[in-house]
Amino acid sequence: MPLDRFVRVATADGAVRFGRVDGDDVVLWSDAPWLAATSGAARETTERVPRARTTTLTPVAPTKILGVGRNYRAHAKELGNEVPVEPLIFYKPPSALLDPGGRVVLPPASVSERIDHEAEIAIVVGRRLRNASPDDALAAVFGATLSCDVTARDLQKKDGQWWRAKGMDSFCPVGPEIVCGVDLARLPISCVVNGELRQNGNTADMIFDVGTVLAHVSRFVTLEPGDVILTGTPEGVGPLRAGDAVEIASEPLGLLRFDVA
Ligand code: ZN
Repeated sequence: MPLDRFVRVATADGAVRFGRVDGDDVVLWSDAPWLAATSGAARETTERVPRARTTTLTPVAPTKILGVGRNYRAHAKELGNEVPVEPLIFYKPPSALLDPGGRVVLPPASVSERIDHEAEIAIVVGRRLRNASPDDALAAVFGATLSCDVTARDLQKKDGQWWRAKGMDSFCPVGPEIVCGVDLARLPISCVVNGELRQNGNTADMIFDVGTVLAHVSRFVTLEPGDVILTGTPEGVGPLRAGDAVEIASEPLGLLRFDVA
C-alpha cells in the first residue's frame, strides 16, 4: 500500500489548504490532517485539484519547533563537541519556517560570517504528549518530512542562547510532504549543495531515537498535534553562500529544495 503523503498548498484562487497527494492530484482536507485523531472537523473532502495548479507551501503549522543538537556522534565530533548524556534541545520559532523552493536570506557579514546547512529529518506530532513514555511518544508521531536547521555557527558559539543563530527568518526550510508510516529508525538523509554531496547519513546512527527525544521533551513541555521536532544532523555540515542551490533528500520523503540569497 502506498504511504499517505500530506501537503499544504496555495490553490489557484489563493486559498491555503491541507491535502493528501493522490497521483497527480491533491485531495483537499477541511483542516490539518494531524487533527483527525482528535477532531471530527478535520477530514478529507471530495474536492480535488491538479497538483500542478497549486503552489507547495511548507506542510507544517506548528505551535513550536524544537531541534536536537549533537544527535549524531560523527557530527558532534566534527565540531569538537562531547556527545550529550541527555537530548540537547533548543527552539526555532515558527516565524523561521521557509516554504519549499524558497530562499534562505543570509544576514550581513557584520552579523555572521558562517551560516551552515544542517540536513535533518523533521517529525510532526500527531497527538498531545505530556510525560509520555518513549513507546507512547513514538506511537503519537503523525509523520516525517525534510528540513534544514540553518545555523549561524559563529553566533551559536558567541551567544550561548541560540535564538538568532538558529531562529532568524527563513532559517527553517521544511517540506515538501509529510509522509506517514515510514520507519523512523532507518531513514537516509542527504544534502547536496550546487550538485556536490555534502551530507549523507541515516537515522539509524542517531544517539537518541525519536521516541526517546519526544518523551524527554514531554517531561517539561507539552507537545501539541502539529508541533515539529528536527531530529539532528549527521556529519558534513558546511557553509552556505549567496547563490547556493541546496537539495535535501531522503528516499521515502522526497526532495526539499531551496536557494540562498
Ligand atoms: Zn541541527
